[in-house]
Amino acid sequence: MAKVDTRAEAVQGVVLRTIAYGESDLVAHLLVRGKGRVSAFARGARNSQRRFGGALEPFHLIEMLLAERPGQDLSQLREARVVEPHSALREDLPRIAHAGYACELVHDLTRAGEPADAMLDLLLGFLARLSRGAATSARLRAFELLALGNGGLAPELSACARCADPLAPGRAAFDPDAGGIVCARCAQPSALLLTHAARAALRQLQRGGLAAADAPLSADGSGRPADARAFEDAASQAARPLGEFVAHHLGHRLRSAAFLEQVGASR
Ligand SMILES: [Zn+2]
Repeated sequence: MAKVDTRAEAVQGVVLRTIAYGESDLVAHLLVRGKGRVSAFARGARNSQRRFGGALEPFHLIEMLLAERPGQDLSQLREARVVEPHSALREDLPRIAHAGYACELVHDLTRAGEPADAMLDLLLGFLARLSRGAATSARLRAFELLALGNGGLAPELSACARCADPLAPGRAAFDPDAGGIVCARCAQPSALLLTHAARAALRQLQRGGLAAADAPLSADGSGRPADARAFEDAASQAARPLGEFVAHHLGHRLRSAAFLEQVGASR
């Protein structure tokens, strides 16, 4: 019989979620560089300062000794230490809520055993910005759009997602099932609506990402900075349509979406 290889290797990743198990153990859901989503069992994690030292907290970037076990879903996490705790984002509930939402979205958009380094870098970029600044709708929309795009689910915002007719700028019906905006002919009566401002904000965020969320440009094409409050308002108007899009394509609602509402975080 072949000897089972349980050598541990040193890898880095973000803690997406932890679940207490038994008296002192933890199961950690991680996004690991080079490996993608990993579930790992950390024996004694809640007691052992020496091997874990409080490293297994959501949003931490950690370095760990990870042993994968052939044929088993659960790896073994033998040691971990914090590389970047993103401590500042824990200073208020809205930022914790945004970080939790981002981690759940990443968890649900990635699969075990499929490397997802671009998604990991996106999450790290989002957590770093959240540590330096407020929890804004603009950043959250940018993150959703980038994460969806990374998962092959970018919403169509320029042409009709059903018949591909180009759509002039302006408000448009939005149909998660079709994959984005739809023209008047293709729109179902139940379609959601994206206001002109919300659609323009989403297009800018889809192109410009997190940097555009922090320094949006005016929608008039002049290259001048946008009115920050108006842009934030537009990003917030897009929360429900994009939330429905996420729920439709994942097949379920994100549990952390309710927490955003509970703590009054911008959506
Ligand atoms: Zn159409």
